[in-house]
Amino acid sequence: MNHYIAESDVLVVGAGIAGLAHASAAVARGLSVTIIDRDSRAVGASVRNFGHCCVTAQSGELLELALVAREKWIEHSAAAGFFSVQSGALTLARSAAELAVIEELAASREPGQVRLLGAREARAELGTDTGADVDADAAADASILGGALLRDDLRVDPREAVGSIAAWLASQPGVKFLWRTSYQGGDGGIARTTRGDIRAERTIVCVGHDLDYLFPELAAEHEVERCGLQMLRVEAPAGFQVRPAVLTGTSMLRYPAFTETSAADALRAETRQKRPDLLDIGANVMFTQRPDGSLIVGDSHRYGATMDPFQSEATSEILLAEIERILGVAELRIIERWQGIYASSPQHPYLIAEPVPGVTTAIVTSGVGMTISFGLAEKTFASF
Ligand SMILES: Cc1cc2nc3c(=O)[nH]c(=O)nc-3n(C[C@H](O)[C@H](O)[C@H](O)COP(=O)(O)OP(=O)(O)OC[C@H]3O[C@@H](n4cnc5c(N)ncnc54)[C@H](O)[C@@H]3O)c2cc1C
Repeated sequence: MNHYIAESDVLVVGAGIAGLAHASAAVARGLSVTIIDRDSRAVGASVRNFGHCCVTAQSGELLELALVAREKWIEHSAAAGFFSVQSGALTLARSAAELAVIEELAASREPGQVRLLGAREARAELGTDTGADVDADAAADASILGGALLRDDLRVDPREAVGSIAAWLASQPGVKFLWRTSYQGGDGGIARTTRGDIRAERTIVCVGHDLDYLFPELAAEHEVERCGLQMLRVEAPAGFQVRPAVLTGTSMLRYPAFTETSAADALRAETRQKRPDLLDIGANVMFTQRPDGSLIVGDSHRYGATMDPFQSEATSEILLAEIERILGVAELRIIERWQGIYASSPQHPYLIAEPVPGVTTAIVTSGVGMTISFGLAEKTFASF
């Protein structure tokens, strides 16, 4: 009689999007899989984000991973029955420098992938599905000079998607979830957890920003630290509906396809001169609309080994004021505030490593885990 609490081909540690994507990749290969999480459900970065699969604004290998992930999101949404929309993303340009960035990106892509919009078109797109009682053109920010539709982006509701994928996986043959079970390390096919040992040929550790708790030397070698983001959920103006994720100039200072344009330097200089407050808080002013109509609004970025738990009201006010300006409303009602944390490394956007034989860490070390995790899982399995 063995003394293991579970036995499977693969053990996945962490039931956020990275862990679930790896578990799903294992299932697709006919492998049995145990998934453990220290919590009773996923409450980490994967439920705290915008639900924006930011495909088009990636470049190089990240774009390849994102395109693989895009197909997997569509498949999983159909299989697990959660909300997803092939909405694209709308990037608003409110200065000549911002226009120059999107024009350069559009010119570098296949026709239709980045579609440039004039000022009226961009303002109308911001309210495409608006109810008859709201004039989208009048409601939108008058300083909008144009925009771009990023074709390949899609959206999910993060609060629903991760739980639905877990529930769907749990119904697949050979899959077992153990919640409130913490990984404590392991080697040679045996993993130690707070509830007992698990036998698995291979362990895949997807603990996101808590990598340093388990593998401090690996985290230090790759300079993995925490990035903390302030987020808000607000009530949308009456009748307001927007399908795409909405990005702004500060988003162009963050996602690689924008930052790699030659025009990005001028935009950074312009932002430094005109809106140092946005750079000071590391803003990526953007929003998405949840199926219930409310808007997920963010975000700011600060970095450190340990995240200060105290949220700055001044930061929230800057973000909120920007969104109010874009929507042309005097005041948005805040429903919720929260902090999200993700793993960040200045060296690379993800980290697949084998710190112990048979134990692989698969960590997204940039703010694109919703965008690339399904692609990353394919890459991890290809490395075995
Ligand atoms: C505010 C915010 C906005 C974002 N917006 C976007 C976006 O729009 N698009 C995008 O692509 N990305 C976005 N991201 C990034 C994305 O959310 C993350 O990259 C992704 O969710 C990371 O997934 P994960 O599974 O690695 O981490 P997590 O979701 O944090 O999951 C890690 C899991 O590991 C578990 N765990 C940790 N240690 C242990 C242990 N020892 N034993 C057992 N379990 C353990 C935790 O309980 C947790 O459930 C955003 C992130 C934040 C915070």
